[in-house]
Amino acid sequence: MKHVIDLGPLPSLPVVGSTDLFPVGRIYCIGRNYAEHAREMGHDPDREPPFFFMKPANALVPNGATIPFPQVTKDLHHEIELVVAIGKGGADIQSKNALDHVWGYGVGLDMTRRDIQNDAKKLGRPWEMGKGFDNSAPCAALQPASKIGHPSQGAIWVKVNGVTKQNSDLKEMIWNVSDSIAYLSGLVTLQPGDLIYTGTPAGVGAVQRGDKLEGHIDGVGDLTVSYAR
Ligand code: MN
Repeated sequence: MKHVIDLGPLPSLPVVGSTDLFPVGRIYCIGRNYAEHAREMGHDPDREPPFFFMKPANALVPNGATIPFPQVTKDLHHEIELVVAIGKGGADIQSKNALDHVWGYGVGLDMTRRDIQNDAKKLGRPWEMGKGFDNSAPCAALQPASKIGHPSQGAIWVKVNGVTKQNSDLKEMIWNVSDSIAYLSGLVTLQPGDLIYTGTPAGVGAVQRGDKLEGHIDGVGDLTVSYAR
């Protein structure tokens, strides 16, 4: 049997040092996983359990791309994030076993139409149109955990047009990668090919047409994308 329309290739990410591709099924994102960012958004980081939202897998953008400026928004924000690629699925994964489910890591940007997200918050509506829009998930090639291990500390930063805007350390995450996988897999059954964007540090801010974003995570890599004029 053949499909009645052609969707083209599956969403996927390149693998560093290889011609292989990592196929992407779903993208989960954690909200407010760095205390300073929770505070800058007006929340108390000590009182909230982790929460999650999603982006469609075809929102991925490869390293080096020039991205059309998104529709509608007047307040597009950058959020630099460590991305976890799940290689082995499961439900109710225990924190102590969680890293066995990780295939690798990447440097990602959770691009956010902040004005639309803020309207949704005010009106008690879903976040998707603020978070899950076209090209909202830039992500660099993945590093296999078999090669780099499991990063738990190290610099995470993003520059806009050469100026540092977010600059923190992975060790500032409220829920580390293990705890995040344990928590998320208690809500849904994780599948091979899932990505988890693990939240952003403080310093989020606006991106304009023509801006160049350069992200970095120690031991994981670099991500550069630009916005079209
Ligand atoms: Mn985020």
